[in-house]
Amino acid sequence: MLKNPYIIRVYNDLQTKFNEQIEYLQAVKEFLSAIEPLVEQDKGLEKEAILERMVTPERIIKFRVPWQDDQGQVHINWGYRIQHSSLLGPYKGGLRFDTPVNESVMKFLAFEQTFKNALTGLPMGGGKGSADFSTRGKSDQEIMRFCQSYMTELAKHINENLDVPAGDIGVGKREIGYMYGQYKRLKGVELGSLTGKPVLANGSLGREEATGYGLIYFLQAMLNEENEEVSQKRFIISGLGNVGLNAIKKVIHLGGLVLAVSNSQGSLYDPQGINIKCLEDILVNHNKDLSIYTQERPHASFSKDSIWSRQIEADIALPCATQNEINAEQARKLIANGVRFLAEGANMPCTSEAIEVFNQSKDFIWAPAKAANAGGVAVSGLEMSQNAMRLKWSFEEVDEKLQTIMSDIFTRCKETCLAFDLGKNYAVAADIAAYQKIVQLIQMHGLV
Ligand code: NDP
Repeated sequence: MLKNPYIIRVYNDLQTKFNEQIEYLQAVKEFLSAIEPLVEQDKGLEKEAILERMVTPERIIKFRVPWQDDQGQVHINWGYRIQHSSLLGPYKGGLRFDTPVNESVMKFLAFEQTFKNALTGLPMGGGKGSADFSTRGKSDQEIMRFCQSYMTELAKHINENLDVPAGDIGVGKREIGYMYGQYKRLKGVELGSLTGKPVLANGSLGREEATGYGLIYFLQAMLNEENEEVSQKRFIISGLGNVGLNAIKKVIHLGGLVLAVSNSQGSLYDPQGINIKCLEDILVNHNKDLSIYTQERPHASFSKDSIWSRQIEADIALPCATQNEINAEQARKLIANGVRFLAEGANMPCTSEAIEVFNQSKDFIWAPAKAANAGGVAVSGLEMSQNAMRLKWSFEEVDEKLQTIMSDIFTRCKETCLAFDLGKNYAVAADIAAYQKIVQLIQMHGLV
């Protein structure tokens, strides 16, 4: 419950204006409630409209994307780019191609991205983009035509010093490659205009792995505080895309046991531990149909149910699929099944009610997305640096820098917990640490 009158007014105004933007309101409310004690102490904020400036994107760009399928039929989709904040540098954040995207999802992602980027310590503002287009069932040629049309419009609003998009759900190396090709046709070679590029096209080694690996590096730091480690722990991990798959690989590499995984078709439970070779074969050669896994490993079980509704005893949960994938009932179930730690790989994967359940459980410790999944954007920042210097760092060099960045983010969260007497509430700590930086920046920029 919000208590500070200024915060209540800001939030109520947003509710009145954007009544249907559920995800955006949810993200803003969680943030405002975390920073409430700081706002309470600083009576000057209201006159300067600091909070309003913090929650309102600098610019919202919406454009149509016409493209033609293989049968010659023309389709129209919508593209978005939300440029939330340039206080710390060029707007930076991924592009999502998915059917349930809308302005609310984009605004929440761009808002969160601003604070996440601030935590990395790198010079990046916050933004996010999307299209209500799914690559599922489309041919390579259709995807290329869509990406070219999308970039024809987006190129008017980005460049390496203004706004630097990357990938997200539905946008991987292939899509970034097509978009980068089109960008060059329109505006000439500009290495740093997109990140997450294929390595051959001046992408950074280690970018593909960065979010999943970074998540595990943050988790390691968090476990270390409790004198625990990844090795021998039992994991449940949702999402078999960029984030989930790389997290799975890192966990296995560190000696953890991945018991259950999932994608949008269902979930797989293997009490002996997921066999990564078998899983990768399904993703590459069998249209991601997880039910096939049980043919080779009959002791495993497939279910169309959400992974979070299944009865699986484990130690650590890593939601790496999408927003609001864990609700309160599922949160209670996780705790009842022995899960003691959770780290958010996806953005806002837990509903507000699920977070309440976690926060009320005495021994449960969780890592918020803003801090724990910042590895992807951090290595995107490193890609921009390499592009600007016309240099290429080895995988090991990038990975080492990523480990340092993730451990620094954890330290910042830990120190903020100590300074504000937050116990192990790393979520509130991450919000406060990022807020302190952004407030100062708003004030030093004058009225912008
Ligand atoms: P991908 O598109 O690569 O993978 C997403 C995975 O989640 C797929 O396996 C997909 O299933 C599954 N999935 C999607 N929606 C649902 C759903 N409703 N229920 C169950 N499973 C679902 O995306 P990313 O891995 O890139 O992104 C995942 C999350 O991580 C997002 O929240 C994203 O914003 C966040 N993130 C990503 C970063 C990155 O660097 N890529 C950086 C920071 C955060 P299927 O394969 O069947 O479609």
